Amino acid sequence: MMMLKKQVPVLAFIAAFNLLMFPCVFSQKKLTTIIVDAGHGGSRDPGASGQYEGSLRSKEKDITLDIAMKLVAELRKRLPDVKTIPTRTTDIYQNPKEKADIANQNGGQLFLCIHADSGPLKTGKRQIGEREETRYRITYKKVKKKKVKVSTPYTVTVPVYEYYKLPLTRKGTSVWIFAPHKTSDKLKAIMDNAEDFEIETDNADSSYVAFSFNTPEGKALADIYQKRFQERSDKLASLVNEEVEKTGREALGINQRQTGIWVLQATNMPAILVETGFINNPDDERYLNSEKGQQELAEVIAAAVVRYKKQVESLNKTAALTTDSKPVLQEKKEIQKFDSRTTKEQKVLQVKSNKLRVQLYDDGEIDNDIVSVYFNNKSIVESKSLNANGYIFNLDLVEGKTNELVLYADNLGTIPPNTALMIITDGSTRHELRLSADLKSNASVRFEIIK
Ligand SMILES: [Zn+2]
Repeated sequence: MMMLKKQVPVLAFIAAFNLLMFPCVFSQKKLTTIIVDAGHGGSRDPGASGQYEGSLRSKEKDITLDIAMKLVAELRKRLPDVKTIPTRTTDIYQNPKEKADIANQNGGQLFLCIHADSGPLKTGKRQIGEREETRYRITYKKVKKKKVKVSTPYTVTVPVYEYYKLPLTRKGTSVWIFAPHKTSDKLKAIMDNAEDFEIETDNADSSYVAFSFNTPEGKALADIYQKRFQERSDKLASLVNEEVEKTGREALGINQRQTGIWVLQATNMPAILVETGFINNPDDERYLNSEKGQQELAEVIAAAVVRYKKQVESLNKTAALTTDSKPVLQEKKEIQKFDSRTTKEQKVLQVKSNKLRVQLYDDGEIDNDIVSVYFNNKSIVESKSLNANGYIFNLDLVEGKTNELVLYADNLGTIPPNTALMIITDGSTRHELRLSADLKSNASVRFEIIK
């Protein structure tokens, strides 16, 4: 019985191991087809609309179409060899299934969904005038031993109010990916399309192998394939977020959702949804409706796709994902740098927001401590000398990742050990954290998102 119990995991393991044998299994030889979806459409599905006082009353479906068309043009310009296919080019209604079908049937390898965000609006109240109002003072008097009610009219001046919708203060661009789990629709989409599905092996150009998913091994493979989609989607989402940051507009980071992004989960390819801005924020609404804003967003997304394509295609050779444009070798060396030491101090900090601001100071006396900081295995601060002014950086926590920050001491300063004070701003909450590292060990903090 013991032996039997072990059989299934062994099978799965063999399937997974086969994947590892071919580092470029499931990798794209070349990214050749991109689908651009303008969210919503038609009179049936206008999406969000500008509703605050002074709003342009714009509709999400128009903004998404304008940006999507500019993105299509930008991608065709930057990637002339790639087929870029829009789901719609006019104001028509398509249900999510139709959109997903267009993507799947055209053999899309990347699905970009363009939306604009909104949120509940608060109602404001203000006085616009006064009016006279008649009220009555009630008194009682006795008439023939009976209590009789007497009302005496009098006039008061009362304010007249007007109610209006307040604009959102929240603004910026966020990127959404679908967070898969084993029984997800995305896996089902892969299984349903199994006969079209190809696995690329390492050794030859013509080595596409059809694969059956109706076996335990096949299921394990499909699961790994699905995870690969997730990794890719996450990768592209990070790149879009980085490109938004470069514009100076607010980059709200990467978010995951398990449900409610039907069109993302039903596409058989890596997929992201960009909430380009908030239609009910005055700055964002004007930006989203402007030629300049739309073009900037198109360029931001196109630049991220170009970087993504480069990284995904070079994956064939390196089988590694890098989160920035640094050469892979350098990245590997960095990881080894902190991997070569033990981590003696491990803290866990619970945070509410997945976007954190970190200020890093030398704790105690300033003694020229030099530190490096890694987040999710990626170098974010490199050999920085800490001083009284501190060093500020942002962290985008990603649900499903470890979200671990490692402090590495490049020296001990003049007063060992190397101690850093971190002030972490988490929405409106401030956390203070002291981490101490030396030449043998690192310190780490893992962030847990509590919602
Ligand atoms: Zn939308």
